[in-house]
Amino acid sequence: MTDVVGFIGLGNMGGPMARNLVKAGFTVRGFDMVPAARAAAAEGGVTLADSAAEVVRGADTVITMLPSGPIVMTVWREIVPLIPPGALIVDCSTVDIESCRAAHALAAGRGLMALDAPVSGGVGGATAGTLTFMAGGSVQAFARAQPCLAAMGKNLTHCGDAGAGQAAKICNNMILGISMIAVSEAFGLADRLGLSRQALFDVASKSSGQCWSLTSYCPVPGPVPASPANNGYKPGFAAALMLKDLRLSQAAAGDAGAETPLGQAATAIYERMEALGLGGRDFSAVFEMLTGAAPDRALV
Ligand code: NAD
Repeated sequence: MTDVVGFIGLGNMGGPMARNLVKAGFTVRGFDMVPAARAAAAEGGVTLADSAAEVVRGADTVITMLPSGPIVMTVWREIVPLIPPGALIVDCSTVDIESCRAAHALAAGRGLMALDAPVSGGVGGATAGTLTFMAGGSVQAFARAQPCLAAMGKNLTHCGDAGAGQAAKICNNMILGISMIAVSEAFGLADRLGLSRQALFDVASKSSGQCWSLTSYCPVPGPVPASPANNGYKPGFAAALMLKDLRLSQAAAGDAGAETPLGQAATAIYERMEALGLGGRDFSAVFEMLTGAAPDRALV
C-alpha cells in the first residue's frame, strides 16, 4: 500500500479529502497557498509543507485538487520534474480537456503514472468519504490509485484512457445543469397553471419526468426536505461552479464539433444568474430567477 501521499490544494474539497486519507492510515503531506486552509488540514492530521515542491519529494502518490486547468498546469510544471519516476500523480480537479491532456503528457515525459480523476458528490461527499471518482488513464495507474481513492470515495469508475475522467465529469454536469433548468421551468409552469408543487412532484417523480434534479435536489421548497431550496438556497453546489463546468462543456463541444444546443442555452442561463449577483447561491436557485421569485426580481 502506498503510504506517503503529497496533497496540493486543501480547499473546500481537498481539505476533507486529505483528512480522510489520514484517517485511512496514509501519511499525508499537504500544501495550500491559503493559511486558513493549511491550518484546517493540520488539525485533521495533515503534515504541512512550505511549498508544493516540498510536498512531492519522496511521495509515492501526489494528488492535486485545484480551481482550474491553468492552475493545475502551473503546479504540475513545477512539481512533475521533482517526483521520482514510477510514482503516481492524480489530478482530482475539474479542468478543461486541453489542460488535462497536457498534464498527462507532462507526467508521461517524466515516466510517472498519471490519472485524471475528477469527482462528484460535493463538499458533503468529500467530508463523508463518499465521493464518486471518474478516472482517465492506464489500467495500471487506476489499480495503483485504488487504495487512495477508496479512502476518499465510494464509487470508483475507470472511464478510459487519459482525459476520459474529465470527459465523464463534463458530460455528467452538462446533464445536471440542463435538467435542473428543465425541472425549474416545469415547477414555474405548474405554479402558473394552479397545479400544486407537491402534486407535480408526486406525479413526475414516478413518471417519465423523473430525474435526480427532481427527486434528490428538488428546486422548490417542500417535496425534498434535504434540498437547498429548504435552506434558503445555501450551497450545496454554487451556481458559479455549475457555470464553470458548463463553460468547460461548451469549450469541449466546440473543439470536438459536438452539437449541444441545450448545453449552450443552460450556460447562458447560469451566466445570467452570475450577472445578477446570484453566483454564490445554490445552482437550484435558478428556479427563483426563472420564476421571478428571487429577491432582485426587478433585475431579471
Ligand atoms: P477551493 O477554492 O475551495 O479550493 C482550491 C484550493 O486550491 C484553495 O484552497 C486554493 O488556495 C488552493 N490553491 C490555488 N492555487 C494554488 C497553488 N498554486 N498552490 C497551492 N494551492 C493552491 O475549491 P474546491 O471547492 O475545493 O474545488 C476544487 C476543485 O474541485 C475544482 O476544480 C472544482 O471545480 C472541483 N469540484 C468542486 C466541487 C464542490 O462542490 N466544491 C464538487 C466537485 C468538483
